[in-house]
Amino acid sequence: RGMSSVTIPPPACMLRPLEVPFRYLFGPGPSNVPPRILAAGGRPIIGHMHSEMFGIMNDIKKGIQYAFQTSNNMTLAMSGSGHTAMECAVFNIVEPGESVLVAINGIWGERVAEIAERMVKQTPALAKYKPVLFFLTHGESSAGLVHPMDGVGDICHKYNCLLLVDSVASLGAAPLLMDQQNIDILYTGSQKALNAPPGTAPVSFSERACHKMFNRKTKPVSYLLDMTHLSNYWGNDGKPERIYHHTGPVSGFFALRESLAILAEMGLENSWSHHTEIAEYLWKGLEDLGLKLFIKDKDLRLPSVTTIAIPEGYDWKELLAYIMKHHRIEFTGGLGPSVGMVLRIGLMGYNCNKANAAMVLAALEDALKQCRKSKA
Ligand code: PMP
Repeated sequence: RGMSSVTIPPPACMLRPLEVPFRYLFGPGPSNVPPRILAAGGRPIIGHMHSEMFGIMNDIKKGIQYAFQTSNNMTLAMSGSGHTAMECAVFNIVEPGESVLVAINGIWGERVAEIAERMVKQTPALAKYKPVLFFLTHGESSAGLVHPMDGVGDICHKYNCLLLVDSVASLGAAPLLMDQQNIDILYTGSQKALNAPPGTAPVSFSERACHKMFNRKTKPVSYLLDMTHLSNYWGNDGKPERIYHHTGPVSGFFALRESLAILAEMGLENSWSHHTEIAEYLWKGLEDLGLKLFIKDKDLRLPSVTTIAIPEGYDWKELLAYIMKHHRIEFTGGLGPSVGMVLRIGLMGYNCNKANAAMVLAALEDALKQCRKSKA
Protein backbone atom coordinates (compact mmCIF):
# COMPACT_ATOMS: atom_id res chain seq x y z
CA ARG A 1 0.00 0.00 0.00
CA GLY A 2 1.20 3.44 -0.93
CA MET A 3 1.52 6.24 1.55
CA SER A 4 -1.45 8.03 0.03
CA SER A 5 -4.04 5.25 0.17
CA VAL A 6 -6.98 5.86 2.48
CA THR A 7 -7.65 3.30 5.17
CA ILE A 8 -10.83 4.77 6.61
CA PRO A 9 -13.79 4.22 4.26
CA PRO A 10 -16.52 6.85 3.75
CA PRO A 11 -18.89 6.41 6.67
CA ALA A 12 -22.26 4.91 5.77
CA CYS A 13 -24.14 7.71 7.55
CA MET A 14 -22.52 10.26 5.25
CA LEU A 15 -23.98 8.47 2.25
CA ARG A 16 -27.49 8.99 3.57
CA PRO A 17 -29.32 12.32 3.34
CA LEU A 18 -29.54 14.70 6.29
CA GLU A 19 -32.67 14.17 8.31
CA VAL A 20 -34.06 16.81 10.61
CA PRO A 21 -37.39 16.17 12.32
CA PHE A 22 -39.97 18.88 12.82
CA ARG A 23 -40.11 20.05 16.43
CA TYR A 24 -42.06 22.67 18.31
CA LEU A 25 -39.23 24.31 20.21
CA PHE A 26 -41.13 25.44 23.28
CA GLY A 27 -38.23 25.06 25.68
CA PRO A 28 -35.75 27.73 26.82
CA GLY A 29 -34.09 27.91 23.39
CA PRO A 30 -33.31 27.68 20.61
CA SER A 31 -36.75 28.69 19.40
CA ASN A 32 -38.26 27.98 16.00
CA VAL A 33 -36.90 30.19 13.24
CA PRO A 34 -39.52 31.86 11.02
CA PRO A 35 -39.29 31.31 7.24
CA ARG A 36 -38.23 34.91 6.61
CA ILE A 37 -35.16 34.53 8.82
CA LEU A 38 -34.35 31.05 7.48
CA ALA A 39 -34.53 32.49 3.96
CA ALA A 40 -32.18 35.33 4.89
CA GLY A 41 -29.70 32.78 6.22
CA GLY A 42 -30.02 30.82 2.98
CA ARG A 43 -28.94 33.72 0.74
CA PRO A 44 -25.74 33.23 -1.26
CA ILE A 45 -22.57 33.81 0.69
CA ILE A 46 -20.42 36.87 0.05
CA GLY A 47 -16.98 37.52 1.41
CA HIS A 48 -16.74 38.48 5.04
CA MET A 49 -14.67 41.54 4.04
CA HIS A 50 -16.75 42.72 1.08
CA SER A 51 -18.06 46.27 1.31
CA GLU A 52 -21.66 44.96 1.09
CA MET A 53 -20.96 42.73 4.10
CA PHE A 54 -19.65 45.72 6.04
CA GLY A 55 -22.91 47.48 5.11
CA ILE A 56 -24.89 44.56 6.52
CA MET A 57 -22.74 44.59 9.67
CA ASN A 58 -23.45 48.33 10.03
CA ASP A 59 -27.17 47.54 9.80
CA ILE A 60 -26.79 44.85 12.48
CA LYS A 61 -25.03 47.37 14.70
CA LYS A 62 -27.96 49.80 14.32
CA GLY A 63 -30.42 46.96 14.97
CA ILE A 64 -28.60 46.00 18.17
CA GLN A 65 -28.45 49.63 19.32
CA TYR A 66 -32.22 49.74 18.96
CA ALA A 67 -32.82 46.38 20.64
CA PHE A 68 -30.51 47.32 23.54
CA GLN A 69 -31.65 50.97 23.63
CA THR A 70 -28.12 52.26 23.52
CA SER A 71 -26.16 54.77 21.51
CA ASN A 72 -22.86 53.01 22.29
CA ASN A 73 -20.51 53.06 19.34
CA MET A 74 -18.88 49.83 20.60
CA THR A 75 -21.77 47.63 19.53
CA LEU A 76 -21.32 44.47 17.47
CA ALA A 77 -22.22 40.80 17.16
CA MET A 78 -19.90 38.08 18.31
CA SER A 79 -19.15 35.13 16.04
CA GLY A 80 -20.39 32.50 18.45
CA SER A 81 -23.13 31.71 20.93
CA GLY A 82 -24.07 33.59 24.10
CA HIS A 83 -21.08 32.12 25.93
CA THR A 84 -18.77 33.83 23.46
CA ALA A 85 -20.10 37.23 24.50
CA MET A 86 -19.90 36.21 28.15
CA GLU A 87 -16.23 35.28 27.82
CA CYS A 88 -15.50 38.30 25.64
CA ALA A 89 -16.83 40.66 28.33
CA VAL A 90 -14.90 39.06 31.18
CA PHE A 91 -11.66 38.53 29.24
CA ASN A 92 -11.54 42.09 27.89
CA ILE A 93 -12.60 43.98 30.99
CA VAL A 94 -10.72 42.15 33.72
CA GLU A 95 -6.96 42.00 34.19
CA PRO A 96 -5.10 39.43 36.28
CA GLY A 97 -5.25 40.29 39.98
CA GLU A 98 -8.51 42.21 39.71
CA SER A 99 -11.75 41.12 41.36
CA VAL A 100 -15.13 40.26 39.92
CA LEU A 101 -18.42 40.20 41.82
CA VAL A 102 -21.04 37.77 40.55
CA ALA A 103 -24.70 37.61 41.54
CA ILE A 104 -25.77 33.99 41.49
CA ASN A 105 -29.52 33.70 40.96
CA GLY A 106 -29.38 30.54 38.86
CA ILE A 107 -26.89 28.82 36.59
CA TRP A 108 -25.65 31.85 34.63
CA GLY A 109 -23.99 33.52 37.58
CA GLU A 110 -22.32 30.19 38.38
CA ARG A 111 -21.12 30.02 34.79
CA VAL A 112 -19.65 33.53 34.77
CA ALA A 113 -17.98 32.84 38.12
CA GLU A 114 -16.43 29.74 36.53
CA ILE A 115 -15.19 31.83 33.58
CA ALA A 116 -13.84 34.57 35.86
CA GLU A 117 -12.18 32.03 38.19
CA ARG A 118 -9.98 30.99 35.32
CA MET A 119 -8.27 34.34 35.44
CA VAL A 120 -9.11 36.24 38.61
CA LYS A 121 -10.04 35.78 42.21
CA GLN A 122 -13.73 36.08 42.98
CA THR A 123 -14.94 38.16 45.83
CA PRO A 124 -18.18 38.63 47.74
CA ALA A 125 -18.58 42.37 48.42
CA LEU A 126 -18.39 45.66 46.52
CA ALA A 127 -16.85 47.91 49.17
CA LYS A 128 -14.31 45.46 50.59
CA TYR A 129 -12.78 43.95 47.48
CA LYS A 130 -13.25 46.73 44.93
CA PRO A 131 -14.36 44.50 42.07
CA VAL A 132 -13.94 46.02 38.63
CA LEU A 133 -16.94 44.14 37.26
CA PHE A 134 -20.32 43.09 38.61
CA PHE A 135 -22.31 40.43 36.73
CA LEU A 136 -26.07 40.07 36.88
CA THR A 137 -28.41 37.95 34.76
CA HIS A 138 -31.50 39.87 33.69
CA GLY A 139 -33.50 36.89 32.42
CA GLU A 140 -32.48 33.87 34.50
CA SER A 141 -33.58 31.04 32.24
CA SER A 142 -32.74 28.28 34.73
CA ALA A 143 -34.97 29.85 37.38
CA GLY A 144 -37.56 31.54 35.14
CA LEU A 145 -36.80 34.82 36.87
CA VAL A 146 -36.49 38.37 35.59
CA HIS A 147 -34.22 40.42 37.82
CA PRO A 148 -35.10 44.08 38.44
CA MET A 149 -32.40 46.35 36.97
CA ASP A 150 -33.22 49.86 38.15
CA GLY A 151 -30.59 51.34 40.44
CA VAL A 152 -28.05 48.51 40.04
CA GLY A 153 -25.89 50.47 37.61
CA ASP A 154 -25.83 53.49 39.92
CA ILE A 155 -24.56 51.43 42.85
CA CYS A 156 -21.87 49.87 40.67
CA HIS A 157 -20.71 53.23 39.40
CA LYS A 158 -20.60 54.63 42.92
CA TYR A 159 -17.98 51.95 43.62
CA ASN A 160 -16.22 52.43 40.31
CA CYS A 161 -17.34 49.02 39.14
CA LEU A 162 -18.69 48.16 35.68
CA LEU A 163 -22.07 46.45 35.32
CA LEU A 164 -22.23 43.41 33.02
CA VAL A 165 -25.71 42.09 32.23
CA ASP A 166 -26.81 38.88 30.51
CA SER A 167 -30.00 39.32 28.48
CA VAL A 168 -29.73 36.11 26.42
CA ALA A 169 -33.14 34.86 27.56
CA SER A 170 -34.88 38.20 28.10
CA LEU A 171 -34.02 40.50 25.20
CA GLY A 172 -37.16 41.46 23.34
CA ALA A 173 -39.35 39.76 25.95
CA ALA A 174 -38.85 41.88 29.09
CA PRO A 175 -38.07 45.62 29.27
CA LEU A 176 -34.39 46.48 29.37
CA LEU A 177 -32.86 49.89 28.61
CA MET A 178 -29.09 49.74 28.45
CA ASP A 179 -28.28 53.45 28.53
CA GLN A 180 -31.03 54.54 30.91
CA GLN A 181 -30.24 51.72 33.33
CA ASN A 182 -26.52 52.47 33.25
CA ILE A 183 -25.51 49.04 32.03
CA ASP A 184 -21.88 48.98 30.90
CA ILE A 185 -21.80 45.73 29.00
CA LEU A 186 -24.88 43.97 27.70
CA TYR A 187 -25.06 40.84 25.61
CA THR A 188 -27.69 38.53 24.25
CA GLY A 189 -28.01 35.50 21.97
CA SER A 190 -29.53 35.11 18.53
CA GLN A 191 -31.61 32.01 19.22
CA LYS A 192 -34.19 33.05 21.81
CA ALA A 193 -36.74 35.86 21.32
CA LEU A 194 -34.78 37.08 18.29
CA ASN A 195 -35.59 33.77 16.56
CA ALA A 196 -32.38 33.60 14.54
CA PRO A 197 -30.38 30.37 14.39
CA PRO A 198 -27.88 29.86 17.24
CA GLY A 199 -24.36 31.10 16.61
CA THR A 200 -24.23 34.90 16.85
CA ALA A 201 -24.37 37.07 19.96
CA PRO A 202 -25.01 40.82 20.06
CA VAL A 203 -22.93 42.74 22.58
CA SER A 204 -22.40 46.39 23.46
CA PHE A 205 -19.86 48.26 25.61
CA SER A 206 -20.34 51.70 27.23
CA GLU A 207 -17.70 54.45 27.05
CA ARG A 208 -16.72 53.55 30.60
CA ALA A 209 -16.25 49.91 29.63
CA CYS A 210 -14.24 50.92 26.55
CA HIS A 211 -12.04 53.14 28.68
CA LYS A 212 -11.21 50.21 30.95
CA MET A 213 -10.69 47.61 28.25
CA PHE A 214 -8.64 49.79 25.91
CA ASN A 215 -6.30 51.02 28.66
CA ARG A 216 -5.26 47.65 30.04
CA LYS A 217 -1.67 46.79 30.77
CA THR A 218 -1.97 43.16 29.71
CA LYS A 219 -3.48 41.61 26.60
CA PRO A 220 -6.74 39.69 27.04
CA VAL A 221 -6.16 35.94 27.33
CA SER A 222 -8.11 35.26 24.13
CA TYR A 223 -6.92 36.41 20.73
CA LEU A 224 -10.21 35.53 19.03
CA LEU A 225 -12.21 37.56 21.55
CA ASP A 226 -9.81 40.51 21.80
CA MET A 227 -11.97 43.62 21.43
CA THR A 228 -9.09 45.59 19.91
CA HIS A 229 -9.39 43.33 16.87
CA LEU A 230 -13.16 42.91 16.98
CA SER A 231 -13.77 46.65 17.16
CA ASN A 232 -11.73 47.03 13.99
CA TYR A 233 -13.57 44.17 12.27
CA TRP A 234 -16.86 45.94 13.05
CA GLY A 235 -15.58 49.36 11.96
CA ASN A 236 -15.92 50.75 15.48
CA ASP A 237 -12.35 51.87 16.09
CA GLY A 238 -12.32 54.87 13.74
CA LYS A 239 -9.47 53.42 11.65
CA PRO A 240 -9.86 53.84 7.89
CA GLU A 241 -9.16 50.20 7.12
CA ARG A 242 -10.52 46.93 8.41
CA ILE A 243 -7.89 44.26 8.75
CA TYR A 244 -8.64 40.53 8.62
CA HIS A 245 -9.05 39.04 12.06
CA HIS A 246 -11.32 36.00 11.61
CA THR A 247 -13.99 34.91 9.14
CA GLY A 248 -17.36 35.87 10.57
CA PRO A 249 -20.40 33.60 10.17
CA VAL A 250 -21.74 35.32 7.04
CA SER A 251 -25.05 33.40 6.87
CA GLY A 252 -25.51 33.82 10.60
CA PHE A 253 -25.13 37.58 10.20
CA PHE A 254 -27.69 37.64 7.36
CA ALA A 255 -30.16 35.84 9.62
CA LEU A 256 -29.35 38.06 12.60
CA ARG A 257 -29.93 41.18 10.51
CA GLU A 258 -33.36 39.85 9.52
CA SER A 259 -34.29 39.02 13.10
CA LEU A 260 -33.31 42.52 14.26
CA ALA A 261 -35.33 43.96 11.35
CA ILE A 262 -38.41 42.05 12.50
CA LEU A 263 -37.96 43.39 16.04
CA ALA A 264 -37.57 46.94 14.70
CA GLU A 265 -40.72 46.58 12.59
CA MET A 266 -42.72 45.26 15.53
CA GLY A 267 -41.30 47.74 18.02
CA LEU A 268 -39.72 46.87 21.35
CA GLU A 269 -42.67 47.98 23.49
CA ASN A 270 -45.04 45.86 21.42
CA SER A 271 -42.72 42.90 21.72
CA TRP A 272 -42.48 43.30 25.50
CA SER A 273 -46.23 43.67 26.02
CA HIS A 274 -46.97 40.81 23.66
CA HIS A 275 -44.68 38.45 25.58
CA THR A 276 -46.29 39.51 28.85
CA GLU A 277 -49.79 39.01 27.52
CA ILE A 278 -49.10 35.50 26.21
CA ALA A 279 -47.14 34.57 29.33
CA GLU A 280 -50.06 35.62 31.54
CA TYR A 281 -52.42 33.52 29.44
CA LEU A 282 -50.05 30.57 29.81
CA TRP A 283 -49.59 31.06 33.57
CA LYS A 284 -53.35 31.14 34.12
CA GLY A 285 -53.80 27.99 32.06
CA LEU A 286 -51.04 26.21 33.97
CA GLU A 287 -52.62 27.11 37.30
CA ASP A 288 -56.00 25.94 35.99
CA LEU A 289 -54.35 22.56 35.33
CA GLY A 290 -53.37 22.48 39.00
CA LEU A 291 -49.69 23.17 38.29
CA LYS A 292 -47.58 25.40 40.53
CA LEU A 293 -45.48 28.17 39.08
CA PHE A 294 -41.94 28.10 40.48
CA ILE A 295 -41.65 31.89 40.77
CA LYS A 296 -44.47 32.99 43.04
CA ASP A 297 -44.24 36.75 42.48
CA LYS A 298 -45.78 37.53 39.09
CA ASP A 299 -43.61 40.62 38.62
CA LEU A 300 -40.45 38.52 38.93
CA ARG A 301 -41.49 35.92 36.36
CA LEU A 302 -39.61 35.90 33.09
CA PRO A 303 -42.20 36.19 30.29
CA SER A 304 -40.09 34.22 27.79
CA VAL A 305 -39.28 31.20 29.97
CA THR A 306 -41.79 29.88 32.50
CA THR A 307 -40.72 27.46 35.23
CA ILE A 308 -43.24 25.14 36.82
CA ALA A 309 -42.62 23.01 39.87
CA ILE A 310 -42.50 19.33 38.92
CA PRO A 311 -45.96 18.04 39.83
CA GLU A 312 -46.00 15.55 42.68
CA GLY A 313 -46.34 11.91 41.70
CA TYR A 314 -44.68 12.35 38.31
CA ASP A 315 -41.29 11.56 36.85
CA TRP A 316 -40.25 14.76 35.02
CA LYS A 317 -38.17 12.90 32.45
CA GLU A 318 -41.12 10.73 31.58
CA LEU A 319 -43.35 13.78 31.17
CA LEU A 320 -40.87 15.40 28.80
CA ALA A 321 -40.39 12.21 26.78
CA TYR A 322 -44.14 11.66 26.50
CA ILE A 323 -44.73 15.22 25.28
CA MET A 324 -41.91 14.96 22.75
CA LYS A 325 -43.14 11.61 21.45
CA HIS A 326 -46.85 12.38 21.24
CA HIS A 327 -46.89 16.12 20.62
CA ARG A 328 -43.53 16.82 18.98
CA ILE A 329 -43.04 19.54 21.56
CA GLU A 330 -39.79 20.25 23.36
CA PHE A 331 -40.01 21.44 26.93
CA THR A 332 -37.00 20.94 29.17
CA GLY A 333 -36.21 20.14 32.73
CA GLY A 334 -34.22 22.43 34.99
CA LEU A 335 -30.63 23.50 34.47
CA GLY A 336 -27.83 23.66 37.03
CA PRO A 337 -29.37 24.44 40.42
CA SER A 338 -32.94 23.90 39.15
CA VAL A 339 -32.45 20.35 37.81
CA GLY A 340 -35.09 18.05 39.25
CA MET A 341 -37.06 21.03 40.55
CA VAL A 342 -38.76 22.49 37.49
CA LEU A 343 -40.00 22.03 33.97
CA ARG A 344 -39.25 24.91 31.63
CA ILE A 345 -41.53 26.22 28.92
CA GLY A 346 -40.40 28.92 26.52
CA LEU A 347 -42.57 30.86 24.10
CA MET A 348 -40.28 33.38 22.48
CA GLY A 349 -40.68 35.81 19.61
CA TYR A 350 -42.21 34.00 16.67
CA ASN A 351 -43.29 31.12 18.93
CA CYS A 352 -45.04 33.47 21.32
CA ASN A 353 -48.75 33.38 20.51
CA LYS A 354 -52.01 32.14 21.97
CA ALA A 355 -52.31 29.14 19.65
CA ASN A 356 -48.92 27.84 20.80
CA ALA A 357 -49.74 28.54 24.45
CA ALA A 358 -52.95 26.54 24.00
CA MET A 359 -50.92 23.73 22.41
CA VAL A 360 -48.57 23.76 25.41
CA LEU A 361 -51.51 23.48 27.81
CA ALA A 362 -53.18 20.68 25.85
CA ALA A 363 -49.93 18.70 25.70
CA LEU A 364 -49.39 19.09 29.44
CA GLU A 365 -52.97 18.14 30.23
CA ASP A 366 -52.61 15.00 28.14
CA ALA A 367 -49.25 14.11 29.72
CA LEU A 368 -50.60 14.65 33.24
CA LYS A 369 -53.37 12.16 32.47
CA GLN A 370 -51.12 9.56 30.88
CA CYS A 371 -47.96 9.67 33.01
CA ARG A 372 -49.23 9.56 36.59
CA LYS A 373 -47.14 7.20 38.66
CA SER A 374 -48.95 4.64 40.76
CA LYS A 375 -47.96 5.07 44.40
CA ALA A 376 -45.08 2.72 45.08
N1 PMP B 1 -27.43 33.18 29.41
C1 PMP B 1 -28.71 32.80 29.49
C2 PMP B 1 -29.66 33.54 30.36
C3 PMP B 1 -29.15 31.73 28.70
O1 PMP B 1 -30.44 31.34 28.78
C4 PMP B 1 -28.24 31.06 27.86
C5 PMP B 1 -28.65 29.91 26.98
N2 PMP B 1 -29.54 29.00 27.53
C6 PMP B 1 -26.91 31.50 27.84
C7 PMP B 1 -26.55 32.57 28.63
C8 PMP B 1 -25.86 30.83 27.02
O2 PMP B 1 -26.07 31.03 25.67
P1 PMP B 1 -25.50 30.03 24.57
O3 PMP B 1 -26.09 28.68 24.83
O4 PMP B 1 -26.01 30.67 23.31
O5 PMP B 1 -24.03 30.03 24.67
